[in-house]
Amino acid sequence: MKEIGTEVWQCNWEDLQAEVAACTACPLHQTRTQTVFGVGNRAADWLVVGEAPGEQEDLQGEPFVGRAGLLLNEMLRAIGLQREQVYIANILKCRPPKNRDPQEDEAAACEDYLKRQLALVQPKIILAVGRIAAQNLLKTTTPIGKLRGVVHDYQQVPLVVTYHPAYLLRSPLEKRRAWEDMRLALKTYRQSL
Ligand code: SF4
Repeated sequence: MKEIGTEVWQCNWEDLQAEVAACTACPLHQTRTQTVFGVGNRAADWLVVGEAPGEQEDLQGEPFVGRAGLLLNEMLRAIGLQREQVYIANILKCRPPKNRDPQEDEAAACEDYLKRQLALVQPKIILAVGRIAAQNLLKTTTPIGKLRGVVHDYQQVPLVVTYHPAYLLRSPLEKRRAWEDMRLALKTYRQSL
């Protein structure tokens, strides 16, 4: 019985991944090299949600690679997590041309995939990384500075906002605030257990 359940679970992931790989629901499919589905532990307590694939992500098919990815790994390590322990996905599964911000209709077209990933992972906490991820998940235009430091919720899962590591690479003085965010996320996670 357990094996059947496991098969169903895996099948759902495979179906979803295949659906995303073939998706043409918004114009971004025309310019992508490949879709960037998500990576990590599919039964993670932590779901990390970023913005959209950049150039390297589009080429490699994995979210948060390169220098920003390394910094994300460091942020996770600072609260005792290895990258492999969390699940990492983006608001958009395809790269916007020239890394422009996602458009509202693109984010809306792609959101169902993230919701289905969320339903499969069943995390205890969501870490929204960067303004675009936070504003899209929370359906708000509130600046990221005001979204930080508060525990929100998305689909009944607690959500904490922090800065995007690419922004932190440009503004290293903000790392102190990101550390505060990670501590809030850890505290929120512990309270959920
Ligand atoms: Fe489909 Fe999302 Fe890619 Fe748009 S960004 S084509 S909705 S997978």
